[in-house]
Parts: sequence; C-alpha cells; structure tokens
Amino acid sequence: MEKNALETDIQFLPGVGPKRALLLRKELNVGTVGDLIKIYPFRYIDKSRIIPINAATPDMAYVQIRAKVEEVSLFGAKGSIAAEDVRFNTVKRMSVKVTDGTGYMEIVFFKGIKWMYSKLKAGGEFIFFGKPSIFNGRLNMVHPEVDSAGASEKEKDPVMQNATMSGVYPGTEKLRNGGITGKTMARLMESALKMALPEMKETLPQHLLVEKGLVPIHFAVRNIHFPRDITALEKSKYRLKFEELFYLQLSLLKQKYVRCRGENGIRMPKVGDAFNICYGSLPFDLTGAQKRVITEIRDDMKSGHQMNRLLQGDVGSGKTMVAVLTALIATGNGYQACIMAPTEVLAQQHFKNISRYLKNTGVKTALLTGSSRTAERREIHAGLEDGSIGIIVGTHALFEDNVVFKNLGLAIIDEQHRFGVEQRAKLWRKSSCGLAPHVLVMTATPIPRTLAMTLYGDLDVSVIDELPPGRKPIQTMSATESRRPALFKFLKDQIALGRQVFIVYPLIFESEKMDYKNLETGYEQIVKAFPFPPYRTAIVHGKQSNEEKKFNMDAFAAGRADILVATSVIEVGVDVPNASVMVIESAERFGLSQLHQLRGRVGRGSEKSYCILMTGHRLSKESRHRIELMCATENGFELAEEDMKMRGPGDLEGTQQSGLPIELNIASLAKDGLLLNDARQCAERVLEEDPKLVLGKNRILAEEVGKEKYNNTCNYSKIS
Ligand code: ADP
Ligand code: MG
Repeated sequence: MEKNALETDIQFLPGVGPKRALLLRKELNVGTVGDLIKIYPFRYIDKSRIIPINAATPDMAYVQIRAKVEEVSLFGAKGSIAAEDVRFNTVKRMSVKVTDGTGYMEIVFFKGIKWMYSKLKAGGEFIFFGKPSIFNGRLNMVHPEVDSAGASEKEKDPVMQNATMSGVYPGTEKLRNGGITGKTMARLMESALKMALPEMKETLPQHLLVEKGLVPIHFAVRNIHFPRDITALEKSKYRLKFEELFYLQLSLLKQKYVRCRGENGIRMPKVGDAFNICYGSLPFDLTGAQKRVITEIRDDMKSGHQMNRLLQGDVGSGKTMVAVLTALIATGNGYQACIMAPTEVLAQQHFKNISRYLKNTGVKTALLTGSSRTAERREIHAGLEDGSIGIIVGTHALFEDNVVFKNLGLAIIDEQHRFGVEQRAKLWRKSSCGLAPHVLVMTATPIPRTLAMTLYGDLDVSVIDELPPGRKPIQTMSATESRRPALFKFLKDQIALGRQVFIVYPLIFESEKMDYKNLETGYEQIVKAFPFPPYRTAIVHGKQSNEEKKFNMDAFAAGRADILVATSVIEVGVDVPNASVMVIESAERFGLSQLHQLRGRVGRGSEKSYCILMTGHRLSKESRHRIELMCATENGFELAEEDMKMRGPGDLEGTQQSGLPIELNIASLAKDGLLLNDARQCAERVLEEDPKLVLGKNRILAEEVGKEKYNNTCNYSKIS
C-alpha cells in the first residue's frame, strides 16, 4: 500500500527532525504524523478573555493578563545581579514586575532567561498567559507564555489567528527541555494538519453521520486542535468520542454475534431432577433478582449457543445459590460442572455451602485444592475422568494438566479477575466433548455498567441488584485514634451480646514488612485490651500455613473466637453470619471497592451490623472523600462509579489485570456513560441489519473493524 501522509515518519514533519522525533516517540509515543494528530489538547483556554491583575487569585487556573513591564531584575546564586554584569550562565532567576493599572504582578522565569531578557524590556506591553500563584505574599506567574500585546494580526502567532481558544497539549519536563513547548506542539500540529488533512478519509459511513448529526472528520480534527469557537469544539469532541466508543462496541458486539449465531454451544434443554430437589428444599425463597438471573442463565444454556455470562452481585446478594442451581442444570443434562475460587479458604467455604445444598440431590461433589493429599487427589482425578463426580469445587489446582474431565459442560469462575486469560483458555481445552463449556463468571466487585460493557462487550451481563430480605443496613462510621477506647468499649458490648468482630489491617505489597509489623503490634494491642479469658482472639494472615489459616478461620466461623484479626488479602468471601462488626484499620489506605468488599463481610445475619473505619488524623482530600462516601452509601455500584471517577477506569480495583481491550484516546468511560450507551445501541442496530457488515453503505465500518487494533480485543468466546 502506498504510504499516505498520516503514516509519514514524524521526523519528516517540518520543524521536527531526528532529535525531536526521538523525543516525541519517547515521551508521547508519537511515531508518525497520524499519531501526532491523535494527541488532543486536554484543555482549552479562552484567549479572547483578559482579566485585570487585581482580579487574579491563586485558585484560578490559567488566565491571561495584559500588562506593562515596569522593572526587570536578574538574580544569581548570591542574589541580585546588576544589568551591566550579566553573564547568563550564572543567572538563576529573572523577575519582571508588571502592572496593568489595577495592580502589580511578578513574572518569574528560571529557564530561557536570555531570550526573555531580550524580549521583555521596561515600558513594553505584553500579554502574559499562565497560572497565578502567591509567593512571599506577592501575586506572581511562573513561566507564562508571552505575546507582544501590540503585535499586529500578521505578526501574531499564525496558529492562533482565527482561533479564539487555544488548546493545551500534554507536555513533560523532557519535552520542554528539548524545545517542545505547548506552543511548539501547536505549531507542529498546524503543519501536521496541513499535510494530512487533505488526504484524510471519512471514517464513519454517511448514514451514521446523518442519523447522529455528527460533523465530518475533517471538521472534527481541525476543530479539536484549533477550535473556531466553543460550539465547533463541542461538536468535534462529540463526534470523536462517539466514533471511538462506537467502534469499540461494534468490534466487541461483532464477535458476540459470531458466537451467538452458530450452533457452537452445548445444548442443555432440561433442568433435571437434582435442580428441582435442591430448589424445593431451600430454606428460603429466592429473591426476585436471583430468579431473574437463573432464568437468563437457563435460557442461555438451552439455546445451543455457548453461554458467556458475567454475574455481578454485591457481597451477600446470594450468588452462590445461583452458582449451585446453574451447576445442577449442567449435571441434570449429563455434564460436569466446575466451580473455581481464587483462594483456598474461599474454595473450602464454597464446598461446604454447596455440599449442604446438594445433600438430597444425589449429585457427587468434591473439593480439589493445592493442599489436597495425593491419595485423595488421585481419587478425585479418577472421579472426574469417569464422570462420577458431577460438581468439582477448587482453586488453581483445577488447571493442572492431569485434571481431565469426562465431559465438562460448565465452568463457574468466582471473582474472575484473579484468573488470567491463559488459565481460562486451558480450562476450555479440558472439555473433551469438542464444544466450549458454558461460562459463568461471578464477581462481587461491582463493575460500573459502562465499564462492564466495554470490558465485557462480548459477555452478557446479569446483575443481582437485590439483597435477600431481612438484612439490616450496616451502619458505617469513621474514627481516629483518640476514639479507640470508645471503640474497644463498643466491641466489648457487642461481644457481650454474643456477636463477633473482624479487625482488618491493610496489607499492601510494597510495604509488606511494615504492614506485618503493624499487624503484629495491632494483634498485641487487641490481646492486651481483650484478655483471655473471657475474650478469645484468632489471627489469620498470609504468612501462615494453610492448616494454620484454616484452623483459625474455622475457630472464628464456629464461634470459638470472638475476634478475628486479619490482613486484607485472605478474607474475601468468608461467611460468618454472627459477625456484626467490621473494624478496618488504616482505612485510608484501602480503595473504595476494597473497603466495600470488606464491609460486606458483616451484615449477613439478622443482627444490626457496624463497619468502623479507623483513620489517621491527616487525610488527603481523596482519602477523605472515600471515607465519607463509605459512610454515606452501602450501594456497591454507586461506590464503583465514584471509584472510577476518582481513579480512572484503568485503575479500578479488580480490573487492572483485564485492562481495557482498547485504549481510549478521547472518550472517558467514567464521564461518557450516556454516549457509550448510545454508541452501543447504534452498533447493535447496525449489526442487526448487517451482521457481517457486507452492505455497501457499511463498507467503511467493515474496513475499520478489520484493522489490527480491533482484532486485539479479547475474544472471550475463544479463550474461556
Ligand atoms: P454472595 O456470594 O453473593 O456474597 P452468598 O451466596 O454467600 O452471597 O449469600 C449470602 C448469604 O445469604 C448466605 O448465607 C446465603 O445462604 C444467604 N442467601 C442467599 N440467597 C438467599 C435468599 N434468597 N434468601 C435468604 N437468604 C439467602
Ligand atoms: Mg460469595
């Protein structure tokens, strides 16, 4: 293919050259002219506005003032330097006193002084453009952009000629040192557009542009960089964001269409006796949400298409029940099911609960973990191979090569983010019937809808959005160290009422040593404050052997300990209905979803429950916000949305490993949820009419989706 302007190596763009090209590549990952054009300003400044100096305050972002230079002073390491002695290599700072009649401002430069010194002469009038701040009680501006105020239109920066707004590009210290300032970026962008725009082809089909009222690509690209006015900018942003989200959804949904069209799934037409026995002997009614989700799953499993479903439900919403019934559909149709948990403790707990539900069903179940003994292991392997074990619960041990199934028809994965893609692929190969097993992924990390749609565009999503009845809300409070005596008194009162208490310490990888020290000191403090007898305190942490962990966990679960001191890493999923208090130490060190997960350990019984967040005195604004949110809401989805807004989707706990299939350049999952919805619906409509994108009017779509970047999106139907 002939190279077009967009693919031109960035070093050949006028004004770049090999040195700057290297810098651009390193700092901004820009290799071609097309890459450069995709660097959008992250902010715009209204250049038509000039404010009086006496209106400038340090809390303002970038502003523009027009002022006359009154005095220029230079300073070296030893203080002020007289103008006649100036040797620029010894000058450390240049200070310029300017006024516009309403007040004074000090303009300060630490770099590029020689050039500025030649430009800023007393009496000259300039436009300074920067961030006001206060230093030594004086209003100042450090390293502003400077333009001559008297410059005629043609002298002015050509880039800014008809733009009333100017974009601020992402910059780094290294870029600036290498001579690529914000202004340079704007200039480079101008040449890049000149070179590439004429060759740039429309990337959305006409019918979509019309239907959605989107501006053409040329208009959008020009105005995202050099907006004619605010309306043009908004329209351009909208179009580019829409396009980005639309293609993301289109590529994901297209894969899903492929999966759902072929007869590639194991058909499981009945529910079977075991299902009915289990269902009939439940000590409670399923919640409406549980029933709805089971219907959705059941429809998938009988459809003949492979199920790939994400089940989201807050902690305590009853996902295990759904898992059991789903597994029984598989066994009812003559297939095996496996349920995988991320930790040994969780697997054991699942196994215990599941065995209880399966009591009268005649379905044989087993537990396989890293600590299963050899003889037992051999027996389980045989049972899986000959099909006598219907439901296997386990950890990563299930992935081992010598685990072979007779006919694996369903894989349920709890807390999906701890299993990598590789491992899921391995599981899929274990199915000997030639068809991919149905997959149900369960997560208690509420993933915001917008994110779920993007991460799992190819998955169907079910949500249990209702807690079993009778749950009392959990009262959440925060406290600092001075309240500890009151806290201990409160815990004693709770224990006197027969309740149990969790006390959790953070364990964060980088400072593991310190954390264990905190845990130990904390444990000593607790044992001192809650002496035996009558108080019984157990401790679990990651450094214990599995037996030791299990022993302590069991003691707490069985009520033989009143207090469980633990680190945050091992506790996920433990179910102790009698525990009514969760104390989280150094709560400011946890992320929102983690705090929420921990809180979900209590409030499982019928007693009123409490979550107490112990924090330090001085909190960052962000930590304070997190703690306040926790106290304000129990809704996991709300918290997840907030978490995403605060930290950005890439950082969202539990999703770091999955990562976004495609990096978004302009749209934001946290902020553009509505647009994402719209883009998805639009993609759905297109595919409904033309699933293979063969119609002439969709030619552009087929071309775009065929591009490499979209083929890297995870295809869950193949890997799981
Ligand atoms: P999750 O795995 O979603 O955190 P679990 O499945 O562990 O939640 O359920 C939490 C608790 O609620 C368990 O003790 C379970 O027996 C109970 N439970 C589940 N479904 C119901 C229901 N419909 N009504 C009452 N209790 C329920
Ligand atoms: Mg669970």
